[in-house]
Formats: sequence, structure tokens, C-alpha cells
Amino acid sequence: MATASDRVATLPLQPGPRLRELVAALPQTLERGKPREVQVLAQAIANGICIALRVKPVRVRVALRRPPLRGGELQGLYEPAAERGHDVVTVWMLTLKKGQVVKFRTFLRTLLHELCHHLDYKLLRLPDSLHTQGFYQRESSLFHALGAGSADDVPRLPLQRPSIDTQGSTLYSGRVPEKPSSPVT
Ligand SMILES: [Zn+2]
Repeated sequence: MATASDRVATLPLQPGPRLRELVAALPQTLERGKPREVQVLAQAIANGICIALRVKPVRVRVALRRPPLRGGELQGLYEPAAERGHDVVTVWMLTLKKGQVVKFRTFLRTLLHELCHHLDYKLLRLPDSLHTQGFYQRESSLFHALGAGSADDVPRLPLQRPSIDTQGSTLYSGRVPEKPSSPVT
């Protein structure tokens, strides 16, 4: 299964001008710090990506302070719908300790990271969505397709066993489900 996940390094996202505009508006929107505005924009970005890749859109929820998680903090979460209902991506916009608005690139990467879990199931039709090398390559491919930054800005995570990524970095700490119906971070 990890092999299947590793086989795909890029996603064929070709964002149109509208989607690029939405991404370009994200830094200022985050700076204003109004959760509702961030929510609307994050949802629009996710919609743009899902539509471009022809998968069912996901519902995006922007929450405030990141919850603590095993010595780190939770940045994002993907919850596949149990049966009917919406698949939900949650992204937190404030840091745990100081309550500061998270940086644009971090926020966007977290959103894309959670979207990649969605795309693993809905586009690549993988039975599970694991933090493989291919997964992080796909995440980066979206980040760059959106013109969001150079490779130098991309945080590099140490590769570990595919199921858990809590050690070393708090960037995407959390767990990957045994079942597709469990939340994925
Ligand atoms: Zn994840």
C-alpha cells in the first residue's frame, strides 16, 4: 500500500487565474485575523483545487487555537465522512502557546496536506492515506503548482515509518487511521 502511495509524485493541478488570486489573497487575509474570512477563503481554495482535479469538494473548517498533541500541537485534520455527509478538513489558524496567527505558508501547506489525504482517497483511490515520501511529494507539487513559494521555503520533515509523524516535528503531528473512516492529521 505504501508502494502505491509512493508511485505518484505529482498531482496534475493547473490552477487558473481565479485560484491563483485566491491563494495570493491568503497572506493578507490571515494577517487581518478574522476567522470567518479565513474560513471562506480556505474553502474557496479547496473548492478550486477539488474542481480542477475533478473530485468531490471537501468541507473546510477553520478553527482557532491549535490543540495540544503529544508534546506538539495539532495543525490540521482530515475526517472522511462516515457514509453520507461531507469529508471535512480542519485547519487551525492560531498557535497553541501564544495564540498568534500562523504563517501563510504553514497555513497553506497544512490545508494542502489535509487535502492530499482527501485526494489519496478520492482521486488516487488508495485504500488508506499514509505519510509516505510520495505523499509529501504530492503535497509539494500542489504547493508549487499554486505558486506559493520556492523549494527553499518548504519545511522538510524527517521520513519515518509511514503511519506516525509525531517525533521531531510538530508540523503535522498526529496519527493516520487504521480505517479510512477515522480522522487523519
Ligand atoms: Zn497527514
